[in-house]
Amino acid sequence: MKNIYGVTYLELENYFLEKNDKKFKATQVFDWVYKKRINSFDEMRNVSKETINTMKSDFYFEKLEIIDKREDTDVAKYLFKLKDKEKVEAVLMYHDYGTSICISTQVGCNMGCKFCESGRLKKVRNLEVYEMVSQILMVEEDINMRISHIVLMGIGEPFDNYDNVIKFIDIVNCGKGIDIGSRHITVSTCGIVPKIKEFTNYDKQVNLAISLHAPNNKIRDSIMNINKVYKIEDIIDVVKEYINKTNRRVTFEYIMLKNINDSVSCAEELSALLKGLNCYVNLIPYNETSHIEYKKSDKDTILKFYDILKKNNIGVTIRREFGSKVNAACGQLRSHYEEV
Ligand code: SAH
Repeated sequence: MKNIYGVTYLELENYFLEKNDKKFKATQVFDWVYKKRINSFDEMRNVSKETINTMKSDFYFEKLEIIDKREDTDVAKYLFKLKDKEKVEAVLMYHDYGTSICISTQVGCNMGCKFCESGRLKKVRNLEVYEMVSQILMVEEDINMRISHIVLMGIGEPFDNYDNVIKFIDIVNCGKGIDIGSRHITVSTCGIVPKIKEFTNYDKQVNLAISLHAPNNKIRDSIMNINKVYKIEDIIDVVKEYINKTNRRVTFEYIMLKNINDSVSCAEELSALLKGLNCYVNLIPYNETSHIEYKKSDKDTILKFYDILKKNNIGVTIRREFGSKVNAACGQLRSHYEEV
């Protein structure tokens, strides 16, 4: 038995073909499940009883349970309980251009970034495809509104759960279903180079963001364990390959950590590193968390850093701060519940 929310459109077409049935039934089923949002096979009024009975023996409907919701201006944070009682979170943000949701891809994370709350609690398991799709469906149901943008920046490392993440993107992007445009979907990775390489060949125009957070290996080594495996040069090389192949602009995320990576010389070094690349830098004011000693950079320091990148012709934005009151930093709400 498979959860229906974990099945891609192509898989469903193949399912019907294998049953010697018509593949257009996949269109009907996706329409009921994702356009009309029904919750059981019996509601599929234009599908034959026979097909419904067959499907009932192979698939089931089940979403997650919302166990907490916290709201602040323009932001809502959801905590979900999974079947095995594990918890993950998603953050909904309201912008002038629409609504975005930041979803989790794993329970915990093994990447061990020193500043990150999610990594404090080690990875328990990957999320199943349906568990990622459910986060979207349940939040849309809760707000009674469609979400326009998805970022895979919640708990977990998407490229450490690559196959499920790709299936998830296939499902939410499918025009017969949820239909969120690929340009409205962003995957963020701490820099797993072989997976970035693989992603270079992915045929959808999904955005790629890379958590760089440092202009050199010395600083990066001290805050991100992954840098012991894949160095900054390896990342830049694979990003060049990605840009050449896809013609797409890459985002580099850069958390501003007080006295760690926020100096003038860091800004100059970062500018030199990224010079000529089709990219931009998203400066992220660090969301402080009680368990971790890093502090966020002062506003003036962030602005100075921004100006230096600008002056060096590097595209740069400063991320708007959301929801520090609702524990919106990656992994904070879950960690609050798993208090150790
Ligand atoms: N593992 C992926 C995606 C999840 S983290 C990645 O590393 O990109 C999403 C982003 O939030 C990353 O850039 C991460 O470094 C950043 N982040 C983690 N903790 C944060 C905090 N306390 N404040 C601000 N950003 C944080």
